[in-house]
Amino acid sequence: MSIQVQALTKVYGEQKAVDGISFTAGPGVLGFLGPNGAGKSTTMKILTCFIPQTAGIASVCGFDVISQALEVRRHIGYLPESNPLYLDMYVKESLAFIAGIHKIHEPASRITNVIEQTGLGPEQHKKIGQLSKGYRQRVGLAQAIIHNPDVLILDEPTSGLDPNQLIGIRQLITELGQTKTIILSTHIMQEVEAVCNKVIIINKGKIVADDTLPGLLNKNGNHTLEQIFITLTGN
Ligand code: ADP
Repeated sequence: MSIQVQALTKVYGEQKAVDGISFTAGPGVLGFLGPNGAGKSTTMKILTCFIPQTAGIASVCGFDVISQALEVRRHIGYLPESNPLYLDMYVKESLAFIAGIHKIHEPASRITNVIEQTGLGPEQHKKIGQLSKGYRQRVGLAQAIIHNPDVLILDEPTSGLDPNQLIGIRQLITELGQTKTIILSTHIMQEVEAVCNKVIIINKGKIVADDTLPGLLNKNGNHTLEQIFITLTGN
């Protein structure tokens, strides 16, 4: 399994944001769902080595997030919720910058490939600040995959997109999920149904469901995913 998490806990001051969660993930798209404040972003930040856990173990492609953080960073791509981008940079320039950080061999051909893969072709000569939100998300995804990581962590990658932009990004996530392990956090249940093979629902720092999508629906009397989410997380 590319991601292994065991009894993971994160405490901020007095607040237990993640409370002893365990799960694994392999190739495909894992929907990571939960109400605001459930602990999704905290878990993602631990997996991407942005913050250390308080207790428990997490590994990516067999590498420990604390003791082998450099290896983890080599194998993981991260699109944070805020998608921080350098708005004054040109698209290609920003990708060259990220390729440089990863010390990618022959960056020019890799940048060309990634631009094609993420559908950035028509906008590739613009500054990021001139792009629509949908294209900015594509730049964020291009940056996240430029070093061809096995694992991708996408924190609400489609929030704020219009329906056409949504479809484009979802197609891209589905394509990437054919070979990579993707953890996708989203509040859009239709999106989970469209792109995810597996679902984890987290509530108040604890996992309340971990199943395939058909398995989850089956176990819950074939209610809609939205109804199941509300039942498992409503207080
Ligand atoms: P989600 O991504 O599911 O919305 P988060 O992981 O962002 O949830 O947050 C989980 C809990 O931890 C929330 O109650 C949040 O207020 C708290 N939290 C998150 N980051 C910090 C921080 N840096 N300091 C203190 N509390 C935090």
